[in-house]
Amino acid sequence: MKDGTGNKATEEKNSNKRIWIYPKLIIGKLYRYRNVVSYVLLVALFVAPFLKINGEQLVLLDVLERKFVIFGILFMPQDFYLFVLALLSFMVFIVLFTAVFGRVWCGWACPQTIFMEMVFRKIEYWIEGDARQQKELNNAPISAVKFGKKAAKHFLFVLISFLIANVFLAYIIGSDTLITIITDPVKQHVSGFIAICIFTAVFYLVFARLRELVCTVICPYGRLQEVLLDRKSLVVAYDYSRGEPRSHIQKATSNSAGDCVDCGLCVQVCPTGIDIRQGTQMECINCTACIDACDMVMEKTHRPLRLIGFKSEEEISDGKSFRFSKRIYAYAVILVLLFGTLTTLLVKRADIGATILRASGTLYQLREDGTVSNLYNAELINKTSGPIQFAIAMPDEQTRIQYINQTNKIKKGESVKLTFFLIRPQHYVQEYKSGITLGIVSGGKVISKAKTTFIAPPNL
Ligand code: SF4
Ligand code: SF4
Repeated sequence: MKDGTGNKATEEKNSNKRIWIYPKLIIGKLYRYRNVVSYVLLVALFVAPFLKINGEQLVLLDVLERKFVIFGILFMPQDFYLFVLALLSFMVFIVLFTAVFGRVWCGWACPQTIFMEMVFRKIEYWIEGDARQQKELNNAPISAVKFGKKAAKHFLFVLISFLIANVFLAYIIGSDTLITIITDPVKQHVSGFIAICIFTAVFYLVFARLRELVCTVICPYGRLQEVLLDRKSLVVAYDYSRGEPRSHIQKATSNSAGDCVDCGLCVQVCPTGIDIRQGTQMECINCTACIDACDMVMEKTHRPLRLIGFKSEEEISDGKSFRFSKRIYAYAVILVLLFGTLTTLLVKRADIGATILRASGTLYQLREDGTVSNLYNAELINKTSGPIQFAIAMPDEQTRIQYINQTNKIKKGESVKLTFFLIRPQHYVQEYKSGITLGIVSGGKVISKAKTTFIAPPNL
């Protein structure tokens, strides 16, 4: 990656002072596509926590209760390995996707960019005007017009931040709990209202003040670009082999002049304040605004489009067309393995998670009727989205069960604890410690199995 010297982003770093960015709005072909993508994603983001499958929220990430639901599938703390595997698969997918397409996630699908560029920025353009008018307004002395515009803008910013905070909480605490917090009197859910207010303030700060700093300074994904990208990765890039030597259009009479007319429009539209002509930079979020801007210039000056476009460094410098590198194949193999393992584990996942252990500190009990018993503690967790009636099935006809406490029903997403004896005739016991598998039966089917041990003096 080349150094971004000369960019607003780099000037900012050097001067240690925030340089406010006023990106110019150019509505090109890619901007229109981004609009469509962002509306679809915004609808999905706002609707997902309120949709239910089999009574479970479509997506729930309840960190406090350690309950996760993805596409209606409930993950309990006992399924943590599945959740970790799913996260790992997602991370490898992102690494693979980044190695091929660069940071396109940031520009097109990241909620930060979508809210910033497609919601908050649009409100700003609507109320304060284009980039030049916004700058003039900020530099103007306070007046009734300035006060009115700023008040209207920040009122809408707070309102949308409040909405986002609510949706964010719906993912964390569940939409039902959120609705209860909102509809009940405030004094019944003081902590819930404080949480909504705190998140509203955080989102307002992010979109009204921090803005591109989230992508260029705070987000760790942006910082990984240097290791994730290589010369073969497709990124938003300036084709310097075609554009240089750049020259203003009126001077571009010689045949040696490149296609870049040095109009600076690609820099003016950049929401992170960089000049893409200085090479791929960590601050570039691949939003493609500069592609639209440059295409517009190319069209007006009757030059071929895509002086800036999705290109690999190899394509620009050596003229080689895009092809997958060995690294990409390696990532793809890892992803297939991870995804295959995850799918197998998900398919094999039992509806009831059962842990059955011999009660600690106990051995065996010899009974007067010639039998021997072991005491067990069991925990059964219902991983489905409905209640389950169950019974414990014995491994053979010689073994029977005597409950100390018994239940045969588990509510959805809950667990029950059982204590019971397993009893066997002593003459049946052949070894001191033997493995034993108990089935959990529901609706006439064994839906889960649990292994434990049985100890008894062997009948020698
Ligand atoms: S350089 Fe282009 S693609 Fe990258 S952030 Fe700026 S405008 Fe977006
Ligand atoms: S918009 Fe295109 S022509 Fe204008 S400065 Fe940028 S690269 Fe050069």
